[in-house]
Amino acid sequence: MTIAIYPGSFDPITNGHIDVVQRVSGLFSKLIIGVYDTPYKRLLFTIKERVEMAQQAVAHLPNVKVQPFSGLAVEFARRVKAQAMVRGLRVSADFEREFDMAMMNRRLNPKLELVCLMARPEYQFLSSSLLKEVARLGGGIDDLVPKHVAQALRKKEGASKM
Ligand code: ADP
Repeated sequence: MTIAIYPGSFDPITNGHIDVVQRVSGLFSKLIIGVYDTPYKRLLFTIKERVEMAQQAVAHLPNVKVQPFSGLAVEFARRVKAQAMVRGLRVSADFEREFDMAMMNRRLNPKLELVCLMARPEYQFLSSSLLKEVARLGGGIDDLVPKHVAQALRKKEGASKM
């Protein structure tokens, strides 16, 4: 059984993430989206909200599960017996950071293989942080996230204006 993890902050999950999940899920018996509880950045959504939004977004994929995790992604991979870690690469935003992280992760767990998928052209510009900024300023986000995520973003936005 080949198991892979796809770790990230998912604050919130976007169509770019979901596209990676859909494309890679067929390559593994099981894919676990690992939602990192305390990334080193300001978060809009709680860990519970981020996990629930991701679960709803991938409910149609039977071999994809969502789990929160703390600490190192390589340790999370060990705990769930994953052989591979999946990451998505956008042309300008990700390569150098992902490369450094991959070298460090290899040091920490040489047995874990990294699988990188290039983001589709239409999602190259899409990041959770840019999405949150656009939502905050009232821009259209409906073609960038599932319906329930767009609703959650609008709700947060409404709450922050009260
Ligand atoms: P992190 O906090 O680890 O950067 P993110 O939730 O932002 O987590 O992203 C998780 C993974 O998904 C990372 O590998 C990131 O590069 C990738 N990713 C983010 N946005 C996209 C996108 N639009 N298309 C493809 N992959 C993406």
